[in-house]
Amino acid sequence: MKIIFFSAKPYDQQFFTEVNQQYNFELNFLEAHLNSKTAVLAQGYEVVCVFVNDAITAEVLQILANQGIKLLALRCAGFNNVDLKTAHSLGIKVVRVPAYSPYAVAEHTLALILTLNRKTHRAYNRVKEGNFALNGLLGFDLHGKTAGLIGLGKIGLATARILKGFGCRVLGYDVAKSEEADSIGVEFSSLDALYSQSDIISLHCPLTPETHHIINASSIAKMKKGVMLINTSRGALIDTRAVIVGLKKEQISYLGLDVYEEEGDLFFEDLSNKVIQDDVFMRLLSFNNVLITGHQAFLTSNALQKIAETTLQNIQDFANQRELANEVK
Ligand code: NAD
Repeated sequence: MKIIFFSAKPYDQQFFTEVNQQYNFELNFLEAHLNSKTAVLAQGYEVVCVFVNDAITAEVLQILANQGIKLLALRCAGFNNVDLKTAHSLGIKVVRVPAYSPYAVAEHTLALILTLNRKTHRAYNRVKEGNFALNGLLGFDLHGKTAGLIGLGKIGLATARILKGFGCRVLGYDVAKSEEADSIGVEFSSLDALYSQSDIISLHCPLTPETHHIINASSIAKMKKGVMLINTSRGALIDTRAVIVGLKKEQISYLGLDVYEEEGDLFFEDLSNKVIQDDVFMRLLSFNNVLITGHQAFLTSNALQKIAETTLQNIQDFANQRELANEVK
C-alpha cells in the first residue's frame, strides 16, 4: 500500500514511521494541506491520510477519485471536514480513529481550567522577572463549584471523572442517555439548567449542523454572570463574535480555547514573523482572561502512538478487504 500524508508534522512522521515497522507500507509525508490545488499530489498512491484542517470537499474528492484513490484515512476522531455524501457516491471509503486517548483531551481541558483560574501563566512570567506580588492572581476553589459538560462521550466522561475528583458538582447534557455518566455521578440536565447553574461550562460534543454555534448570544445570556467557558472540541461550536460581546460585558469571565472556528488559516503553523489578518482572533488575544492553545489537546505521546496504530490497522483491514471497524458511514 502506498500512502500519502497531508498536513504532516515531524511528530506524525516519527510515530507513523515507528509503528509502520510492523506493516511495511510505503509512506510519504507532505507538509501541504489537502485542497483542490494539492490533491493532484495523490497521483500514484492508493490511500490518502489527512488531519483536522484538511478540507475534503466535493471538488477535492472528485480529484482524488479521478486518480483512483479508494480510501481516505483520517488520523483524527472528528470527521466534520469531510463531504461524506460525495465520498460515498464516488466509492471512496472513509476511516477514522474514533478513540485514541480521551485522557489527553480531558487533561488538557483541566490544564485550561486550572491555568485560567490560578493564572499560573501570568505567575510564571512575574516570578521570572522578580515580581512576587500576588495582586491580580486571585483564583477560586474548584471544590464545590458546578461544572456543566455538553457532550458525555469518551472525552466528556473522562473530564467528568477528573472534575469529580476535584470535588465539583458535575452537570451533563447529551442527546443520548449514558449509564456510565450516571454511575460516576454526573447529573443529567437540560441545556438551559446547565447554562443557568454552571460556574464552568466545557464543550465535548462533535461539530454537526445541530451543534454549530450552540454557544451563541442567546445561550450566553442564559449563563451565570462570570462563567468560565472552555472549548477543546471544535471551533465552530462557538459563535466567536457573540463570545467577544460576552467577554466585554463581563458575562464571561474566563475563556479557554484549544480550537477556533477559523483556525484553518492559523493553527499548526509558525506565523510569528507574519501579520495575522484575522481581527476577530486578535481581539480574543487582547483579553487577559482568554487563554488559547493551538489545537494541542490531543498532543501526547500516548495519543500519537494510538493514532498511528489505529490508522495503519484501518489501512491494513482495507488492504485485506476485511470489515472496516472504524469506517465513517
Ligand atoms: P464521542 O463520540 O465519544 O462523544 C461525543 C458525544 O457528544 C456523544 O455522547 C454524543 O451523543 C454527544 N452529542 C452528539 N450530538 C450532540 C448534541 N447536539 N448535543 C450534545 N451532545 C451531543 O466523542 P469524543 O471522543 O468524546 O470527542 C468529542 C469531540 O472532541 C470530537 O467530536 C472532536 O470534535 C473533539 N476532539 C478534539 C480534540 C483536540 O485535540 N482538541 C481531540 C479529539 C477530539
